[in-house]
Order: sequence, then structure tokens, then C-alpha cells
Amino acid sequence: MAFSFLKQWRERRNTEDRNPPPITSQSQALNSNELVWFRAFGHQIPFFNCFSFFSTALSRSSPTRVYQIWPGRNVFFFRGRVICGPDPRGVLLSAVSVVLSEWIFCSYIGNSIRIISLSLLLTCTVIVSLILVSTRDPGIIPRKEGSVMEDIGSCSRIRSRRIAINGVEMKLKYCRICGIFRPPRSCHCSVCDNCVEKFDHHCPWLSQCIGLRNYRYYMMLIFSALVFFIYMLSFSWWKIGKMMSEKEWGGFQLVVNMPETFALALISFTAIGFLGGLAIFHVYLIILNQTARENFKQRYAESPNPYDKGLLSNIKEALFTRLPPSKVNFRAVVEKQDGSLTRTASIANSIEEEDSSPMQNKSNQEESSGSYQDDQVV
Ligand SMILES: [Zn+2]
Ligand SMILES: [Zn+2]
Repeated sequence: MAFSFLKQWRERRNTEDRNPPPITSQSQALNSNELVWFRAFGHQIPFFNCFSFFSTALSRSSPTRVYQIWPGRNVFFFRGRVICGPDPRGVLLSAVSVVLSEWIFCSYIGNSIRIISLSLLLTCTVIVSLILVSTRDPGIIPRKEGSVMEDIGSCSRIRSRRIAINGVEMKLKYCRICGIFRPPRSCHCSVCDNCVEKFDHHCPWLSQCIGLRNYRYYMMLIFSALVFFIYMLSFSWWKIGKMMSEKEWGGFQLVVNMPETFALALISFTAIGFLGGLAIFHVYLIILNQTARENFKQRYAESPNPYDKGLLSNIKEALFTRLPPSKVNFRAVVEKQDGSLTRTASIANSIEEEDSSPMQNKSNQEESSGSYQDDQVV
């Protein structure tokens, strides 16, 4: 019974994904965000999004805003001011594990105000980084309005464009879901259902895409969490060593008499291995000016990387250049025209700009030929 119900629900969801219904009223638009789907054991499982329900109830009397009709799977808080991935429980779990580690440290290991204060400072740095990376727009590219139905209906043509960047030919792929030619280095995230600029990967621990606008905060998170867990492990190990020498405890007695310290040491050790590997990999990527996706796909195995400007310039570009503003104003008011909801001019303009010349926005950073060669396969 439950399986057939889930099967029907999944089939309906798949049908909606292929043929999304046009948004004709505010209630329809709002309902689209009340269900959150996540994948577990190979199945899409629906969950009622209580956060969206409360925000919906609060905003019924206010004008419809872009975040309420946004077709991606993001979850919005504070009326569109905070944008998270489809399942914010991932970031909550990460935050709880850090706070829990800190609580164990303060309660059972830290033995002086100075040591505890420094651990609290490290915890705050990790939590702030976590919030910054998971609640920012990672670089979502606006969709072309009304393109989805048209493109699904006329899917016989596969379109792409070619463009030269620093003398290297790059292919701009057409995204049928967003209805745009994706700028170079961008990709459509299947989890969040958005095209994201300079897409690195989708992080399940943060439930957020890592892209152009939050990559440096991601690096800040990796390094602050690495330092935090090294700090935790150092003092846990120091206490374990002290107890073993003072009371001559063996491994079993250690686990029985101080399970919290032992657990913290074990968690810290595992976290250091995981975060250390990530840190090394991303430092390597920054030095080469590659994204994780480009590296996995071996994007520059046969052609040179046109974005590689040398060690210092690559580091500066990844971590210290000014971040571009968000291309989507999720708080913009949506105007109602002919019984359907359409986005405001500010969004439409950004879509036009994106579609007509994706490289124009990057003209101050990259040298491009400025001309396209269209490929059309009928
Ligand atoms: Zn897309
Ligand atoms: Zn994503």
C-alpha cells in the first residue's frame, strides 16, 4: 500500500518535472515549495517542508516575490533573504556535530579558561563559515522565462555555441531546463535544479552548490574545521596519554572510564582525514585554476586551460577578487500579467543579458573573441 502510494507520488513528480504546470495563481506557486524531496536508498522520498509552510502562511497577504515562484528546488528563509539547498538538514547536522564536539571538549577536556576560550573562537569561526557557505546564492544563473515548455516541446534540435577564450575554443552548452546557453564553467545542478556559475560541486553535507559566489567561504570552512578538529584531537590525545600513564589504564578501561574523550578523539581523527584530503585537493585545484567538476571530467587533458594565469593570479582570483553580485533578485516583486505571474524587469534584463552574450559579464576578467559559432543538429 505504502509502496504503491510512493510509486504514484513519484510518477506524478516525474510527470511534473517533464511538464511543469504554468503558474497561474499565487496559491499554485506557493504549493511548489511545500514538499521537499531527498534521495535515500535509491528512492525519492517526500517530506513536508514545515519552514516553507510557515513562511507561506506569513506571506499570504504580501505581494508575490521571485523566491515564491522560483522553479529550482531551493528552500528560502526570511522571505527570500536566505537561500539554502533543497534539504537544509545537512547543514544542521554539520552544525550540531561541531557544537557537540565543542560541548564535549568544554565539559570533559578543556582545563583552563585560555584553552576553552580558544576552542570557542574556533567553533564560532567554523559556524560562521558554515552559515556563509550554505546560505548564500552560489551563483545561480537566471532562467529564460517560458523556455521550459517550448524547449521540451521542440527537443529535436540540440544547440551549442563555440567561443574562444584566451585563444582556446570553448563550447557553450544549451540548458533545456533553464533555456539558456550556459556560460563557460557553469553547470546545471541536478539536486538544486539550477544552472550555477563556475560550478564546483554540490556538497551534501552543506546541502548547497559550491560555485562562483561561495567557493572562498567553502575554503574558509574546510580550513577552519580542519584547525578546529586538530585542536580537539591534540587535547583529547593529551588527556588520553595522561590517563594512560597516571592510572596505567589499557584501551578497554579507557573506553569505559572516559568514553566522551575517546569518542571525540575518534571523530576528530576521522574528520581530520576527510578535511585534510579535501583541503589538499582544493589547494591543488586553486593552483591550477580548475573546478572539481573540470578536474573529474579531465576537461583540460587535451587542450590548455585558458583560465590558468599563474600561481599568484590563480590564488588571487579564487580567494581575493571581488565577488559579483547575485544575478537573481529573489526578493523582487512579481507582476501579474494576463492571469499569469511573470517576473519583474530586473530579472528579465539579466536573463536577456545572459542569453545574448554570456561572456559580456566576464569581459573584465577574460579575453574572448566576442563572436559565436552556432552548432545546430536537426
Ligand atoms: Zn540549467
Ligand atoms: Zn546544488
